[in-house]
Amino acid sequence: MQWAGFAYLVAAICFIMALRGLSHPESARNGNRFGMAGMAIAVITTILMPNVVSYEWIIAGIVIGGVIGAVIAKKIVMTALPQLVAAFHSLVGLAAVFVAAAAFYNPGAYDIGTAGHIAVASLIEMSLGTAIGAVTFTGSVVAFGKLQGVFGSKPLVFPGQHLLNAALGLLLLGLVVWFCMVQEPWVFWAIVLLSFAIGLLLILPIGGADMPVVVSMLNSYSGWAACGIGFTLANTALIITGALVGASGAILSYIMCKGMNRSIFNVILGGFGGESGGGAGPAGDDDRPVKSGGPEDAAFMMKQAESVIIVPGYGMAVAQAQHALREMAELLKSNGAQVRYAIHPVAGRMPGHMNVLLAEANVDYDDVLELEEINRDFSSTDVVFVIGANDVTNPAAKTDQASPIYGMPILNVEEAEQVLFVKRSMSPGYAGVQNELFFRDNTTMLFGDAKKMCEDIVKALER
Ligand code: NDP
Repeated sequence: MQWAGFAYLVAAICFIMALRGLSHPESARNGNRFGMAGMAIAVITTILMPNVVSYEWIIAGIVIGGVIGAVIAKKIVMTALPQLVAAFHSLVGLAAVFVAAAAFYNPGAYDIGTAGHIAVASLIEMSLGTAIGAVTFTGSVVAFGKLQGVFGSKPLVFPGQHLLNAALGLLLLGLVVWFCMVQEPWVFWAIVLLSFAIGLLLILPIGGADMPVVVSMLNSYSGWAACGIGFTLANTALIITGALVGASGAILSYIMCKGMNRSIFNVILGGFGGESGGGAGPAGDDDRPVKSGGPEDAAFMMKQAESVIIVPGYGMAVAQAQHALREMAELLKSNGAQVRYAIHPVAGRMPGHMNVLLAEANVDYDDVLELEEINRDFSSTDVVFVIGANDVTNPAAKTDQASPIYGMPILNVEEAEQVLFVKRSMSPGYAGVQNELFFRDNTTMLFGDAKKMCEDIVKALER
């Protein structure tokens, strides 16, 4: 089908343009448009293929899936996106298993041989797609549960875990070989069940603070599963799209691992950060006094400041404080202060979370700096305004080897002259560990909702 090959090529180019666009907030919308166009071309082309013999099930699937997807997309709050992404990955994984099962039981329909006499190359693609898909399914379900708070975000570790994972991995490899030799249904389902178990075992030992890398790794796995199934179906669009998702997810995981000072191999093998499950003393059981203030105090301090760095985190997203925050920053700038934003690679609950929110509030991109660009400037800064961020400022990551966040580079906010922390209580951040900064002499806690606090500071600055 020459025209189909050409249409798939156009779709693939659209997907590449989409990835390129999504790499910067300014071009992200266009990137999304390219992605949608590419997907529309790919779906329409597939539907028009001559080997599609009836449309009832396809239309029913598109209508039901489309309605569910549209409702979820309308309702979802941005802070819940990582768990939504994890949930969607689980479906990609499961779809790979179902497609492989369909091809195995009805190979004639896929032109890969007859029952019991399937081509070996197809069996290899099928079993790898199934195994990766099944691992992605259960792994994503656990990641969803942890991010949604259904299961605790604490790592589940037990002695001999890595040995068990390695043994099960070898067993899986053996089953794949056996499957290619005997083509028996029980071996196919044994591969599925074993992969389900491996997915669980890989993700359960991963602690809350490390989940961002896991979500992106599962994204990559779901891409490779789709790619494997693309070979079974001899569908070039699926092969290319799967490879793009797989490769970009792997690259993102690598970048995030570097950002968090983690080893990519530990993520792939599971259980990284697991050994440090005990962590530094959890927050909440600490009754040491802290210095607290109100919006008037914050406004007074920042009015005196020549340089201010704003550190946004998850709480800013929850409170939707970005617009009020920008208004506050503009007032400080018009007062003569240099105001910049420091973005930690895993601030919030998804990569780029803070950048998206600040872009939405029309914050100038030049004022928004990444960790490595600004970390050295904290020591020469008058006031740091930490708004709804916690883990990404926690110095335990530098000093406490028992902490689950140990090794993650953090923003050196404590080096500034004064640190203001906006949050509602003394509760910990996502990793569940105490932040020593709250008790330091140069820290003032501003207890309250982030948006309300910014609005009150704006009023105080205008007075
Ligand atoms: P944290 O989760 O460490 O801290 C957020 C803080 O915001 C909390 O301590 C909370 O304190 C406060 N907060 C919540 N709601 C409000 C509100 N309405 N107003 C004011 N404050 C509020 O966030 P960080 O951004 O510092 O760190 C991100 C964490 O999330 C890291 O551990 C990271 O590993 C993890 N993570 C990151 C992902 C990513 O891709 N970026 C994905 C998944 C996890 P209080 O309740 O007292 O108000």
